Amino acid sequence: MQRVKKGRDDSHVVLERLTDQTCAFCDDGLLTPGEYKGNQAILCKSCNTPAVQLW
Ligand SMILES: [Zn+2]
Repeated sequence: MQRVKKGRDDSHVVLERLTDQTCAFCDDGLLTPGEYKGNQAILCKSCNTPAVQLW
């Protein structure tokens, strides 16, 4: 999982780039914006593994 500092100019680009990408941790998951431990993140819909977390 990547961690990206919130407020960086490219943080929203990172989220947009990863949305709808396939999950690296399971076979048929798609990444979708959500929350992980209270932080904005991109998570897999299938296995709930966060790919990126903004903190
Ligand atoms: Zn997954």
